[in-house]
Amino acid sequence: MKTLPLLALLLLATAGTAHAADAAAPVLKGLDGLYPELDSLYRDLHQNPELSLQEEKTAAKLAERLRKVGFEVTQKVGGTGVVAVLRNGKGPTVMLRTDLDALPVEEKTGLPYASQVTAKDDSGQSVSVMHACGHDVHMTSWLGAATLLARAKDRWRGTLVMVGQPAEEKGGGARLMLKDGLYSRFPKPDFAVAIHNSATAVAGSVEYVSGYALAHVDSIDISLFGKGGHGAYPHTTVDPIVLAARTILSLQTIVSREKSPLEPAVLTVGSIHGGTKHNIIPDEVKLQLTLRSYKPEVRKQILAAIERIVNAEAAAAGAPRKPVISLTEGTPATYNDPAVTKRLVEAVSRTLGKDNLRETQPVMGGEDFSEYGLAGVPAVMLWVGTVEPKRHAEAKAAGETLPSLHSALFAPDRERTLRTGVTTLTASALELLGKP
Ligand code: ZN
Ligand code: ZN
Repeated sequence: MKTLPLLALLLLATAGTAHAADAAAPVLKGLDGLYPELDSLYRDLHQNPELSLQEEKTAAKLAERLRKVGFEVTQKVGGTGVVAVLRNGKGPTVMLRTDLDALPVEEKTGLPYASQVTAKDDSGQSVSVMHACGHDVHMTSWLGAATLLARAKDRWRGTLVMVGQPAEEKGGGARLMLKDGLYSRFPKPDFAVAIHNSATAVAGSVEYVSGYALAHVDSIDISLFGKGGHGAYPHTTVDPIVLAARTILSLQTIVSREKSPLEPAVLTVGSIHGGTKHNIIPDEVKLQLTLRSYKPEVRKQILAAIERIVNAEAAAAGAPRKPVISLTEGTPATYNDPAVTKRLVEAVSRTLGKDNLRETQPVMGGEDFSEYGLAGVPAVMLWVGTVEPKRHAEAKAAGETLPSLHSALFAPDRERTLRTGVTTLTASALELLGKP
């Protein structure tokens, strides 16, 4: 009689440990049954992509499904944004974010479910549209996690806030949603989590960065002014083409000579426009620059150096007018809260296995998920691999570069990627939400 309760106690203790070791496992049991539905949603989203701030049908599809599983859904937040709330007793509020928009890219994957959609962009031009950044992977994974969590309300406590954000590709969607009261009209999250698919990581794996993970992105427009005239009489002109050439070369010294070599940043002149004909010296040349940096002080230093050099080169050339330098609103650097990153990495690796979690380098791409963190919420974005394992190994062996995000050839290994996306978001949410 004495041994029996002890045995029972031992068994209970073991079961208890198993539960604590992987709280997500019982919830994720539902994924097999749910997968066919997610797969068809993914194909539908992939075949019907919508450009930034035009994501109306996309938003409606997600809103309808979230309502069905019990969320209180609000649409048209910050344009086409969706906010879905599920209250489940006392506990932390956890926000899971997906982006909704696609890109003006003509799909060339040859997949049976490739997009053939065209739409009008902001300038009224007809363009092909494709989910070339994989936001359809994010949406499907996000909906999968929301569905599994809603079906397993006995496994967690707190409030789940699902955010479907428009216009990530334009860098303005997060700001629009925050301005429209995301943190005041709805429960303000204690944590914010998102995934982004990775075009380099193997499908089934997750990669993470603690601290700065994506760059601050600035777009800079510069007009340089000269005095136009005949190409055969340069002495009667101030040639803005030569001024632009000198300015571009001088700008190269900011990153290489002025900034600390230990602080990452990149400055690229991506566009130069001036002149109409061989023998005419124009009045004006326009430059477009992209600046990528992490730390605010580095960004400030480089912006000041750009202004100084552009003005000084114009003065040296004897330009009749000071250049016009304008900074269009950029995307701030994405900072992954180190303490939360650690918790999520441990939680996700319990589910996916330690071998499938890898620390990786920050990138110079930008993401406006950063805005949610800057608005006062510890936030983490994790990378979810998309490359079919065999293809990954072959490319690695051959030193081949795989199609990047935004490529017309970008095609995630669908099922592995989606299952990993759902698993990552579900395990992350359960780690941060309260226990029953
Ligand atoms: Zn993108
Ligand atoms: Zn993206």
